[in-house]
Amino acid sequence: MKEDKLTTQDKIEADNLLEEVSEILAPCIKCGLCKSLCPVFKVLREECVSPRGKIILLSDKVLDKVIFQCNLCGACEQKCPFGIKVPEAIRKAREAMVLRGRGLKSDKEMVESVKRYGTPFGKINNKK
Ligand code: SF4
Ligand code: SF4
Repeated sequence: MKEDKLTTQDKIEADNLLEEVSEILAPCIKCGLCKSLCPVFKVLREECVSPRGKIILLSDKVLDKVIFQCNLCGACEQKCPFGIKVPEAIRKAREAMVLRGRGLKSDKEMVESVKRYGTPFGKINNKK
């Protein structure tokens, strides 16, 4: 869905969610301590997928698909000296992205499959 086709309600809800994201992340001093425990960063080794990288993007109001590269494990929140609720901010940012029509295609297909077949895996053929 293109952004210009969104309903006013969706736009308002997305804006409100992004305000909440900003409030959650405001105390972050970008120290990077949270990076050491992030399993996604450990594998991909790119700053943009680390919790700090995502915080920098979100602080600049950039809603990139990288926001979906997080398993919401909460390790960053545990490590942060301020207890910043990074996973909560990421969840809200994702919700805002979906409301703006910028969710993942694969997630959309999974939801459609659940609605249609009652399973996220598409049509299941039980015949052998
Ligand atoms: S979330 Fe916490 S640990 Fe991570 S960069 Fe910000 S202040 Fe540092
Ligand atoms: S919640 Fe996301 S960003 Fe934080 S440590 Fe886990 S995978 Fe990394």
